[in-house]
Amino acid sequence: MQRFLLRRALLPDGWASDVRVEVDAHGTVTSVTGSAATTGVGGSGDPAGSAVDCDVVIRGPVVPGVPNVHSHAFQRVMSGWTERADSSHDSFWTWREVMYAFVDRFGPDEIEAVSSLAYVEMLESGFTAVGEFHYLHHSPSGDPYDDPAETGGRVCAAAERTGIGLTLLPVFYRHGGFGPGADARRPAEPAQRRFVSRPDVFERIVASTRRHASHLPGGTVGIAPHSLRAATTAEITEIRAVAGDGPIHIHVAEQMAEVEAAIRYLGARPVAHLLDTQPVDERWCLVHATHLDDGEVVRGAASGAAAGLCPVTEANLGDGLFRAREWLDAGGSIGVGSDSNVRIDPADELRTLEYGHRLVDRRRAVLADPYQSTGRTLFDRVVEGGARALGRSCHGIAPGGPADFVVLDGNHPVLAGRDDDALLDTWIFGADARVVDEVWARGRQVVAGGRAIARDAVEAEWFATVRRMGAP
Ligand SMILES: [Zn+2]
Repeated sequence: MQRFLLRRALLPDGWASDVRVEVDAHGTVTSVTGSAATTGVGGSGDPAGSAVDCDVVIRGPVVPGVPNVHSHAFQRVMSGWTERADSSHDSFWTWREVMYAFVDRFGPDEIEAVSSLAYVEMLESGFTAVGEFHYLHHSPSGDPYDDPAETGGRVCAAAERTGIGLTLLPVFYRHGGFGPGADARRPAEPAQRRFVSRPDVFERIVASTRRHASHLPGGTVGIAPHSLRAATTAEITEIRAVAGDGPIHIHVAEQMAEVEAAIRYLGARPVAHLLDTQPVDERWCLVHATHLDDGEVVRGAASGAAAGLCPVTEANLGDGLFRAREWLDAGGSIGVGSDSNVRIDPADELRTLEYGHRLVDRRRAVLADPYQSTGRTLFDRVVEGGARALGRSCHGIAPGGPADFVVLDGNHPVLAGRDDDALLDTWIFGADARVVDEVWARGRQVVAGGRAIARDAVEAEWFATVRRMGAP
C-alpha cells in the first residue's frame, strides 16, 4: 500500500485540494479522499490535508495520465524520412510504400528498441498507457516465429522497462484490399507477408500474447481486425470470439479511397457497414473514422464506441478532418492516439484536433462545451473515452483505476499565474512537453524532472539501432 497526498489534482468531478490517494501493490487506486464537491474549487478544506502518514507528497498540479489509444510504435523510427515530395501525387498510399520498404529491417531486437524509445517519449509528454495496434508479427520470410507472439512479447518488454501501461492489440490482417467482386478481397501483397495470418494462426498469436502480457501490471489484451479491406465480414465475426471481454479496435474510413471502394464492393460506407454487421458497442474503438456521413455520425456516436482520433498523423498523412463537433453533439466518445508516432505529445494531438476545426469553421473554441475551457473539455473527453478504449472500467484518478499521475511544473515560466483549467489550456495551446515535470504510472515514478527514468538505457540502444537500420 502506498499513500499519496496530491496538493491540487483534477479528479473526475473537478479540481480538488489535498487529495489523499491510496494505491495497492498492483498500482491500482483503492481510495480517493477529497473531491471537488467536498473541498471546493480553489479551497483547501480537507482536514486530512496534512502530510502525516503519506509516503509521497506531490506539490505541483496533478492531472490524470492520458491514454494513447492508437500506436504503431515501430514507425517512430521513420519520422522525418517520409516528407520529400515525389514526382507523383503524394498521399497515405505513397507513405505506406516507404513504410513497407522499411519493415524488413525490423527483427525482434529492433522492435523492442524502437518501441522503448517511443514509450519513453509518450511518458515524458503525459501519455501513461498505450493501445499498441501490433501487426508486425512474422519473420521477414513471412513465417511465424517459433513463438508466434515473439514480436508482441518484445512490445511487452518495452512497456515493462519503461513503465507505460499496455493494452496490446494483436492485429488480424489477411487480405490486400477490396475486390474484385462483391464482399471479395484481393490477395495480400508480398510486402504484407509479415502481417498476414489465417484465423487459426491469429488465435495462437493472441494466446501467446496473453502469456506475455500477464507479467505486466494491468496488462490488457484485445484484438484488432486491421480494417475492412484486410479482413472480411465473416472473418471479423469469427475472430471476435478470440477477444474474450477485451477491447476490439479497427482502422475505419481513414481514406476516401477506402470509402469509395467500400461503397463499390460492400454496398455501404465503411462505418455504416461495420455498424450493420458487427455488435459495435463500448468495447470497440473506431480508429480514425474520418469520413462519416450524417447517419454514420449519429449511429456511430450512439453505439458507445470511441472514435480513436490521431490528429497529428491524420494531418501528416493528409487524411481529412473528423467531424468532432457533430460527433460530440451526438453524445459520441473520443480518445486520441499517436498512430505513426511522427510526433509524440498528447497536447499536440488535442491542439491539432481543435485547430483543424478552427481553420475550417473560421471560429474559436469549436470543441469546448458552452462557457467552458477548450483544454479542459478536450482533456476530460479523451481521458474518459481513452480509458474505455483501452479496456478500463473507470477513468481518471478514481478507485479501481490505475494510479497514473501527470505532474505539471508549477514553477515553469509559461505556467506562471495559472491554475486549474487555465493550466490545461496553457499546456495544450501555449506550451509543450517541457511543462511535464513528473509522471507516475500505476504508482511507479517513471518520469522525474521531465526525463524518463528509463531514458538513458533506452537511448543507448536506440542510437545503435538507428545506425544499424540505416536510412530508407
Ligand atoms: Zn493506425
